[in-house]
Amino acid sequence: MPELPEVETVVRGLAQTVVGDTIESVWLGSKPEPLKSPAVVIERTLRHARIAAVRRMGKHIVIELDRAHARRPKVRRTRSKTSPGKDTAQFIVHLGMTGQLLVSKPDQELEKHTHLVAQLASGRELRFVDPRRFGRLAVHTRNGFETAGLEPLDVGFEIFVSLFRGRKTPIKSALLNQKLLRGVGNIYADESLFRAGVRPRCCAASLTRDQLRRLYDSIQQVLNQAIAAGGSSVSDYVNAQGEPGFFQFEHRVYGREGEPCLVCSTPVKRVVIAGRSSHYCPLCQK
Ligand SMILES: [Zn+2]
Repeated sequence: MPELPEVETVVRGLAQTVVGDTIESVWLGSKPEPLKSPAVVIERTLRHARIAAVRRMGKHIVIELDRAHARRPKVRRTRSKTSPGKDTAQFIVHLGMTGQLLVSKPDQELEKHTHLVAQLASGRELRFVDPRRFGRLAVHTRNGFETAGLEPLDVGFEIFVSLFRGRKTPIKSALLNQKLLRGVGNIYADESLFRAGVRPRCCAASLTRDQLRRLYDSIQQVLNQAIAAGGSSVSDYVNAQGEPGFFQFEHRVYGREGEPCLVCSTPVKRVVIAGRSSHYCPLCQK
């Protein structure tokens, strides 16, 4: 499942390629699951909108749309140049488990499981492909999109510490709780806990300030390194240009059950915590 570094990589790729472009037409597939807004509303909001910016909130891709010229009939456009910023909207994409948001050339073959194609004035296409259909597409017309949790790369240490105060769940579960930190999922939680030397089952509330400091630093380090590597391609993940990331080669525990720890050679263990696999080294992590 794409986590913060993968979504950030897609966002950066889109920001470089489609910002300033205008959506000319929209095609939507017939599968209802990916559509969190009615198809007709998505189509109407995107059509003729200019892509003003692309940014990330947690695991969500936020595409800021400028519709200042979209709604006015051509004959009246010269007379009504007022109210910039009023005609804005947001196109929100969540990649779910297997979603891909791709910038394609129109002659590239349409992949099976394509749920949206937005034709751009530049001639390129923005395509949403998602075989398992856990991804979501939505539009917000009042720029009101909000999502819970704090950005792990922006949060300060003291606020980070306060998130876990009195929280009697395993630290792994607390890291996956998107209402606390948004964007950290299974891979980066396991990798951060390994680097911090903290076992995933440790009670969040009982972590010492030293442990929390190491965990805070590890999360920052792991996320930044993963973004620099273009994310982890463990299943279907590719960036907006269709290319894989490389951080999977830097994983120290995730997906390495039974393999020797890279620090001490003890076999990496896998346990299930809150229904999710957790990987750790029983010697390096206390
Ligand atoms: Zn070890």
